[in-house]
Amino acid sequence: MKLAINGAKKLRSNPFPAYNTIDKQEEEAVLRVLRSGKLSTYLGTWHKDFYGGSEVQALENEWADFFNVKHAISVNSATSGLYAAVGAIGIEPGDEIIVTPYTMSASATAILLYGGIPVFADVEKEHFCINPKSVEKLITPKTKAIMAVDIFGQACDFKALKQIAQKHNLKIIEDAAQAPHAKLGDKFTGTLGDIGVFSLNYHKHIHSGEGGIVVTNNDELAFKIQLIRNHGETVLAAKGYEDRKELHNMLGFNFRMTEIEAAISRVQLTKLKKLIDIRIENVKYLEKQLKEIPCLKFSPLRDGAKHVYYIHPILFKEDSIKVHRNRFIDAVKAELPPSLMRDDSHVLLSYGYVKPLYLQPIYQEKICFGNYPFSLTDRTYSKGDCPICEKLHNDTLITHELMRPGMSKEDLDDVVRAFEKVWAHREEL
Ligand SMILES: *Cc1c(COP(=O)(O)O)cnc(C)c1O
Repeated sequence: MKLAINGAKKLRSNPFPAYNTIDKQEEEAVLRVLRSGKLSTYLGTWHKDFYGGSEVQALENEWADFFNVKHAISVNSATSGLYAAVGAIGIEPGDEIIVTPYTMSASATAILLYGGIPVFADVEKEHFCINPKSVEKLITPKTKAIMAVDIFGQACDFKALKQIAQKHNLKIIEDAAQAPHAKLGDKFTGTLGDIGVFSLNYHKHIHSGEGGIVVTNNDELAFKIQLIRNHGETVLAAKGYEDRKELHNMLGFNFRMTEIEAAISRVQLTKLKKLIDIRIENVKYLEKQLKEIPCLKFSPLRDGAKHVYYIHPILFKEDSIKVHRNRFIDAVKAELPPSLMRDDSHVLLSYGYVKPLYLQPIYQEKICFGNYPFSLTDRTYSKGDCPICEKLHNDTLITHELMRPGMSKEDLDDVVRAFEKVWAHREEL
């Protein structure tokens, strides 16, 4: 027996380094805010502080400059940002938004919150984003928007999606939570649709613990997002709601970011480009060696795209080996250690990504706010709806985060050696 999964010695047991981008600069930024005593200056009423304090506004200006977009609106999470985005485009109960099932659950729950109906389109075989051809087949008079998720860090096929949106008069919300600084042509992801949403949660490329940023070039949408962020109904009462009857969905929330998170985010933004360069370099280094292993295959980049590798996807070639992907990956994981600061013993390597969303109980049982909003639709959610997505998830997609900054060449070499070892001894599986 040679493989750790069969009880032999692991290839490596001392943990991989932590991914930690926080240093003195963030520490000083936090102290600056703490010493000011102003941890948040928001007021949920029509007042200059309706727009937040100096750190919040500085972050928003810096973010807008960085991504070359007119408005950047900070929120307390990308989930909140997606909720605000769906509200801002004026969704009404029973309206449909077409979304990918291969995404974090909030991309779809944002639709449900406004009584909208998520309609799941299949994904692309090689890029894993929503497939424009599948989108087009699902359009009905009820369709109001497309929720396009730049999954794993690469832009969706916006050229095709925009043509569809134009033809059918649909809005595009871009969930760019996994793709800050990714590009399509010369444009940044997040700015490719009508509204884009970024995440600053702990697991993302840059973070402030929790946080999010919504971007748009549209003044009206920006104002609506600001209203939804901060008790819109109260603010509109002061401004004269009667004159603005078109402002539906202006039930406000408190989606406000604190000054502390904003100050941390400002520092993190200055580190973004460098952190992404390292990810790209590490992926190149891994792919160059892993491509020698016959059961692995890499998807080509989309034409004109810059991928920022929140996750590095790898395809498993089923016909090149008699073992199922899950068994193969379990064996590779058994050779490798966990990463520091991830407080479980989890190796950052998996098969598949999240279970296709329509297979979650909320869609299978069609229970949300009681039966609402599913009571407004005849649509059903069934196994087999998105066969490409299910195939990727069940059999062929491998995902990992072992290319994160902090990993040295030697660490990356150990990852490669683990794959090589399992391939060499595959008859043991
Ligand atoms: C992380 C993530 C979100 C949610 O981000 P939060 O800031 O944690 O709310 C939404 N969509 C996608 C695709 C994500 O990866």
